[in-house]
Amino acid sequence: MKHDAFDVLVIGGGHAGCEAALAAGRFGVRVALVTLSKQSIGVMSCNPAIGGLGKGHLVREIDALDGAMGRVADRAGIQFRLLNRKKGPAVQGPRAQEDRGLYRAAMRHEIFSAPNIVVVEGEAVDFSMSGNSVTGLELADGTILDSRAVILTTGTFLRGVIHIGDISRPGGRFGEAPSVKMADRLDGFGLPKGRLKTGTPPRLDGRTINWDSLESQPGDVEPAMFSFLSNGVTAPQIACGITHTNENTHDIIRSNLGLSAMYGGHIDGVGPRYCPSIEDKVVRFSDKTSHQVFLEPEGINDHTIYPNGISTSLPTEVQESYVRSIQGLENAQIIQPGYAIEYDYIDPRALDLGLAVKGFAGLYLAGQINGTTGYEEAAAQGLVAGLNAARFAQNGEPVHFSRTTSYIGVMIDDLVARGVTEPYRMFTSRAEFRLALRADNADQRLTSFGREIGCVSSGRWRVYAEKAETLASVRSSLMQVQFTARDLAAAGLNLNPDSQNRNGLEVLALVDARFEHIIESKPEFTDVPGDIADQIKRDALYAHYIERQARDVAAMSRDEAQSLPDWLNYTVIPGLSTELQQKLTQSRPATLGHAARIEGMTPAALIVLAAHLRRSNLKSA
Ligand code: FAD
Repeated sequence: MKHDAFDVLVIGGGHAGCEAALAAGRFGVRVALVTLSKQSIGVMSCNPAIGGLGKGHLVREIDALDGAMGRVADRAGIQFRLLNRKKGPAVQGPRAQEDRGLYRAAMRHEIFSAPNIVVVEGEAVDFSMSGNSVTGLELADGTILDSRAVILTTGTFLRGVIHIGDISRPGGRFGEAPSVKMADRLDGFGLPKGRLKTGTPPRLDGRTINWDSLESQPGDVEPAMFSFLSNGVTAPQIACGITHTNENTHDIIRSNLGLSAMYGGHIDGVGPRYCPSIEDKVVRFSDKTSHQVFLEPEGINDHTIYPNGISTSLPTEVQESYVRSIQGLENAQIIQPGYAIEYDYIDPRALDLGLAVKGFAGLYLAGQINGTTGYEEAAAQGLVAGLNAARFAQNGEPVHFSRTTSYIGVMIDDLVARGVTEPYRMFTSRAEFRLALRADNADQRLTSFGREIGCVSSGRWRVYAEKAETLASVRSSLMQVQFTARDLAAAGLNLNPDSQNRNGLEVLALVDARFEHIIESKPEFTDVPGDIADQIKRDALYAHYIERQARDVAAMSRDEAQSLPDWLNYTVIPGLSTELQQKLTQSRPATLGHAARIEGMTPAALIVLAAHLRRSNLKSA
């Protein structure tokens, strides 16, 4: 029997697993990535795209912390679009269409070239334990791997079942076996869990699509890259096609709803509200006669087309029929049918803010297993679990991300405090401080923090430090120059010429002001590089709001800082409803701020809790 020892073991080579292994590796610990197939490292199970609103923010944050997803997506990107380009920077989200093969190759390169990561092909089936501490893993072939910490990132594989119409078969993803033994083993931990589901559309042969009859959507002329280190696109760029469902399509779907796995009663799991199947759309938005479908090429040298917007679990022949009712797809051939997948997830309220399982030392969970959906959500959790597992292995303190400084913090806080009732995905609306948490300033928010905790390499740190220095120096110069309203009006700004003088940053805080207006009357700023000028403009635009938010953040941080001890007995606190006593006992929030976000928590109950805490602290002091 083989026997090996590591500091951190990561189970799963998906988006969470790769980022977890790479993050742990950056701490210099010995990491093994255990996955069912080496070939499928970095596979995109569903749509060939990275980013979007909220999700793009997560990718930038992963990048700011030196994670891989951003630079991999840049290398494999074949169409870049900044969503909400016409709206304010706070809600703009970078998104790119990816070449599936290039993405996988680039991620595999990251993993295989990382100096202290070993890839082990095999099925993890059991944990080694010492009391309630996880000390390693057993693989299906009997190999034992010892480790200080284990991160489980099994995605949709735990007891996965694939559904196409009324045909169901076990599967973790199309063509791959599910992970059943590990699911059985996890049952023994007694963690709260449930079933969720998600679906994917049929894949089409692009050579059978009538592209000439369709609208074409090119990428942006000036692509917005994900990584703060990328200089531009490297892969050839493509356009996507756009078509629409019609009343005939909807009739076909409506009359076959009974055959859909989602609607025919074959699936118990709850699906993603924000990525609805076409069956869902036709039923829920019954007044709409048409839905948009993006025809997205899966790669440069790949004829496969991903029809974004028509995921389904109808039988293959019904899929064929409704696909061919759509303009441009009249002769389209289906390469792989759409399907739904149902899988086990662990209620994330069983986790702490570092994604460690409460009560089981050394065990971490990240990705879809925690009830989320999406590559970016998975990768961001992987990074957090990876760095915490590495620090645990080095006897370091855990690292937590605050919702006041990152979307990563928002997501983890939402998950561990509230749990999920449906697959969780990121939106900008989930962040109460979103004017401060922009995709463009992720490096300013997180790279120094990442460097302090040890997960940012020297190379990235040098690039960031130079940028931060230039930003600080230009800002300081701008604050020292005064502009009269008359100068600014002459430079083309729509201003009352009798209004007050402003310094350069105050000028840029005006919505219509651009760096060109500054240069117009102060030519000494001509040499400021374009990206620095743009960043200073974006920061200045929000400076006023952010000052206000900073006060709210300070108030919230005070609450957040109040920790709730593990020994607190919620059932004896008078004035708390039985429901809240139970919820608090079950979720054991780490802080008062955390308790505030438990579903059903009221301001009055929080006051009761805070008062009880003060009394308990006094007694124990
Ligand atoms: P995965 O990417 O699933 O990776 C899991 C990894 O674990 C794999 O490498 C697997 O080999 C490995 N593994 C599993 N069990 C074991 C074991 N016992 N031992 C060793 N290795 C193991 N997301 C969206 O945002 N929108 C969508 O519309 C959408 N639709 C989807 C449709 C389908 C059919 C599927 C399958 C997924 C869909 N997703 C969608 C979800 C998206 O693919 C996931 O969110 C993302 O891939 C999760 O990443 P992960 O790292 O958690 O897991």
